[in-house]
Amino acid sequence: MEEREILDILGISVDKVDMRKAISIFSNLMETEECSLIVTPNSEIIMNATKDESLRKIIASADLVIPDGIGLVYASKLLGQPLKERVTGIDFMEMILIWLQENEKSIYLFGSKPENEEREAVCDLAAKKKQIQYPNLKIAGTHHGYFKPEEENSIVEHINASGADFLCVALGSPKQEEFIARHRESLKVKAAIGVGGSFDVWAGTLKRAPEFYQNHGLEWLYRFIQEPTRYKRMAALPTFMIKVMAAKTKA
Ligand code: UDP
Repeated sequence: MEEREILDILGISVDKVDMRKAISIFSNLMETEECSLIVTPNSEIIMNATKDESLRKIIASADLVIPDGIGLVYASKLLGQPLKERVTGIDFMEMILIWLQENEKSIYLFGSKPENEEREAVCDLAAKKKQIQYPNLKIAGTHHGYFKPEEENSIVEHINASGADFLCVALGSPKQEEFIARHRESLKVKAAIGVGGSFDVWAGTLKRAPEFYQNHGLEWLYRFIQEPTRYKRMAALPTFMIKVMAAKTKA
């Protein structure tokens, strides 16, 4: 059993993992009976967690906290405990899909936009694309992410009835983490993860940054070019770095 090694960033515990270790911990979690929680916070989510007690508690209760995003890698260096590599949520998800296929475990895709006149629901499009890429992957079910609160329990029943081993929730943060935390006791999956906009990338409705941006830690810039309305949220990155530096100076 691989031991967790924890790094404290602004009072939030994240796992000091590279991809190999993250997958190793994930495979252990898939052996346990209860529903494990996996979160992949970036600097914006860490900042939110410092202000939002409920999100902070949810992250503290997670079984694996993957530091997603270049801001956390810089923060780890500043704090003198450098992360070996950046494990982005979307790359981690790709490795999970390969693991699920190899281990004959099934996945349920919950979240993202419902169908419209031009296309199917994003979760169904994403499922189809991934089924082509991984022909032996077992996709137990899908459900879009625009629902009324009173529909939540029946979605949980649908997930349980599908017999899925693993649940991906794409509702954005903190909605996705809150959904998993709220239903953790009744969910029969072995583990659940919040994946943000991953289904949009899988479905092809949102493009992932080209390699140049990925290799230079500039995915946030590409995202900004695609969705300029996110500028306010992106201001979180410099504020985050300043807070980490201030915390380092105080320590
Ligand atoms: N979404 C959803 N239900 C909602 C709000 C959002 O299913 O009520 C989906 C949205 O369609 C998108 C994802 O959640 O696929 C949010 O992705 P984003 O990258 O914005 O996540 P964040 O950066 O907030 O984690």
